[in-house]
Amino acid sequence: RARKRFGQNFLHDPQVIGRIVKAIAPKSTDLLVEIGPGLGALTEPVAEAAGKLTVVELDRDLAERLRQHPTLADKLQIFQADAMKFDFRQLIQPGQKLKVFGNLPYNISTPLLFHLFEFADEIENMHFMLQKEVVDRMTASHGGKDYGRLSVMTQYYCKALPVVQVGPGAFKPAPKVDSAVVRLIPFPKAERAAVDPAILNRVCLEAFNQRRKTLRNGFSNFATAEQIEALGINPGLRPEQLPVTDFIRVAQWLATQEKTDAS
Ligand code: SAM
Repeated sequence: RARKRFGQNFLHDPQVIGRIVKAIAPKSTDLLVEIGPGLGALTEPVAEAAGKLTVVELDRDLAERLRQHPTLADKLQIFQADAMKFDFRQLIQPGQKLKVFGNLPYNISTPLLFHLFEFADEIENMHFMLQKEVVDRMTASHGGKDYGRLSVMTQYYCKALPVVQVGPGAFKPAPKVDSAVVRLIPFPKAERAAVDPAILNRVCLEAFNQRRKTLRNGFSNFATAEQIEALGINPGLRPEQLPVTDFIRVAQWLATQEKTDAS
């Protein structure tokens, strides 16, 4: 029986599973990591293609089932652990990054994504099944209603694109919402803007706290309209009109301000 509090909706549609595995494109040389393998719907075909993988599963009973699995067990390195607290760095090998994937528990998807972003430099790519609405927000460009903190933070760390759309019928039990698989490719550290992600996150929280407010009001806790203008940003804009690069510019400026304050 599926445990609701662990966000368990198991994939059972072979066509959908095939499309997701094709998107992941597992190879025997990859360092593959699955979050929440559950009953192994994705684990089996990925293990088949790659020969081995690491899984992180919170549910004791499911982890134990995988340990006892007649054909899968010896291809798996199993961690019975909370992926939100898991140190993914322990899995990297010299010169090789991780490929992380999973049909994530929807109730914790945002904090789990933020946890994974902390390991962006250790990750080659990620493929996650999420609520379609979450994928829409992650991949949204400025100007639309889906654009918000999750878009800015995702696109600061990664190139993000939707790769597979999935209806509720592909799962047991069927969720109430549509789902989609997103592909995330972290930018190399050297290409990422030099900004403290915690400050960027705070700028987003302030800006999107009340989406109908203009930046003049949204940023009023830390910047005047003149200071916003001096950054080349129109303070009369609404937060969803501001591109990711401008959020980064505000966060970089704020970091220098706070340094000046402290000295
Ligand atoms: N991969 C399987 C599938 O596609 O059929 C199961 C997907 S189900 C949506 C989510 C899985 O994540 C469940 O197996 C659940 O027990 C596990 N899970 C829930 N919270 C977790 C956490 N914090 N860390 C690791 N696994 C978790």
